[in-house]
Amino acid sequence: RLAFYIAGQEVEPMKQTILITGASSGIGKATALRFQAAGWNVIATMRTPTQAPDLAALDNVLVTRLDVQDTASIASAVDAGLARFGRIDALLNNAGYGAYGPLEATPLDKVRRQFDVNVIGLLATTQAVLPHMRQQKSGVILNVSSVGGRMTFPLGTLYHGTKFAVEGLSESLHFELLPLGVCVKLIEPGMVRTDFAGRSFDFSNDPALTEYQPTVQALLGAMGPMAENASSAESVADVIYQAATDGADQLRYEVGEDAHQLLAARRSTDDAGFLGHMRAQFGISGG
Ligand code: NAP
Repeated sequence: RLAFYIAGQEVEPMKQTILITGASSGIGKATALRFQAAGWNVIATMRTPTQAPDLAALDNVLVTRLDVQDTASIASAVDAGLARFGRIDALLNNAGYGAYGPLEATPLDKVRRQFDVNVIGLLATTQAVLPHMRQQKSGVILNVSSVGGRMTFPLGTLYHGTKFAVEGLSESLHFELLPLGVCVKLIEPGMVRTDFAGRSFDFSNDPALTEYQPTVQALLGAMGPMAENASSAESVADVIYQAATDGADQLRYEVGEDAHQLLAARRSTDDAGFLGHMRAQFGISGG
């Protein structure tokens, strides 16, 4: 056992600290539990802190309010985390949801909200943590993207738009932060068994727009079978833990057999080949 001494007194080695957004459920909550079990301090942030009394009861976990659409709440959560634990070594930008459906059937406020939560919220939280990581000369920023950040399904114009944005911004940011000692990593899960397909699935449709309904039916019909191969939130948390601690110079971490298969297929062919395969799968052809 390594022992640490200050002025001749043995002290606990400095624990590492992670701040997680969207820690109330799913991947965020599983990751909070994973890091706490590994001996980290956890700043488990969520819109409604009363949702997680079980997390709040654990040692070295601070549950505090953070709504990624509310900049003041981001600043308060970062301040509260630093006041309690003194440092932030890792940030998991996990908060997000899926806006799907025909673009024509989706009100503009839903369009804005999807990008505000999944993209602007992630950037705002990153901005709030960066001054600290820059002064500390170290840190890991883990952005939860998706297999849907590298390939698309029909009617996911908005969700895929946000996850492709997360991919591009993370790749560019990694150049910017590398000289500062701060790493950026992307987590790319396939389907995961969480509330994502339930309360986090914001589907807009208008049955009067009949032209879109065959595609709507094809997508909704495909979701059940796709969910059969879903990974657990715990397996995503394991990969997030690995990404935060492996010290590897690796930007992207795929999670799940479905993600590996889909992304291998995407890489193995050109646009015409891959998009043709997806069109056939969803019964989509020219009008
Ligand atoms: P989930 O259990 O529904 O969790 C979504 C989380 O995001 C909830 O904690 C929710 O908090 C939070 N959230 C939503 N809007 C927020 C806001 N404005 N501010 C702060 N938090 C907000 O679903 P999940 O699957 O774990 O999703 C987590 C991430 O994984 C998302 O980025 C999603 O895109 C990504 N992902 C999921 C899958 C999948 O199949 N499940 C696949 C690939 C990627 P509240 O409790 O306050 O609503």
